[in-house]
Amino acid sequence: MNDQFPDPCKMIIVSAPSGAGKSTIVRHLLNSGLELEFSVSATSRAIRPGELDGREYHFITSEEFRQKIEAGELLEWQEVYPGSYYGTLKTEVKRIHDHGHYPIFDVDVVGGLNIKKMYAENALSLFIQPPSFEILEQRLRSRDTDSEQSLQKRLDKVRWEMEFARKFDKIIINNKLEDALREAERVARGFLGS
Ligand code: ADP
Ligand code: 5GP
Repeated sequence: MNDQFPDPCKMIIVSAPSGAGKSTIVRHLLNSGLELEFSVSATSRAIRPGELDGREYHFITSEEFRQKIEAGELLEWQEVYPGSYYGTLKTEVKRIHDHGHYPIFDVDVVGGLNIKKMYAENALSLFIQPPSFEILEQRLRSRDTDSEQSLQKRLDKVRWEMEFARKFDKIIINNKLEDALREAERVARGFLGS
């Protein structure tokens, strides 16, 4: 157990390559009446149209990010793409915990496994697997939120990220969306006992 947060508190970690459907599945779980609350990470990446500071992320500069690392404010952090930093704020876990809710994290594969290591049996780690590389690329392109350069950075990492799948507690294959949502909800309910 992590000695910074001594009370046992269950949590759900969702990781996957970009475009696999993490956000879609996390949104569904948040709307499933499971008393989950989203852990809003800090990031130095640019805000996308439609995103709100403090809702999807706390958008900060690279300099502010470095200060948070130095001040020990991050539970974990990664440079997920070159020049783009993402990290879980310790205050988020505490805030959600204090509400009596369960945190749900949308984090990269390395961050996900790091959180799992800290919280062990109190954490359920889910890996969302796309049906194929080609379908993942189509989904990312049709989401239409990234520049070609940002898209390429994401695609360059997919095969490496897929290697981590077997280290997670459960792999959810996101082929037909309704099936993936149902399966994610079934596993989450089983883990939380609700
Ligand atoms: P991530 O958060 O992993 O980057 P998203 O949840 O944003 O991925 O999904 C990427 C895109 O693919 C979105 O436009 C989403 O609506 C779409 N999508 C997700 N799951 C499916 C699915 N099973 N079938 C078709 N499109 C999907
Ligand atoms: P995006 O830029 O598409 O929102 O996210 C890019 C990647 O960063 C995704 O894999 C997402 O899960 C990951 N990510 C978001 N927040 C965090 C975080 O706090 N820590 C880590 N390690 N990864 C994160």
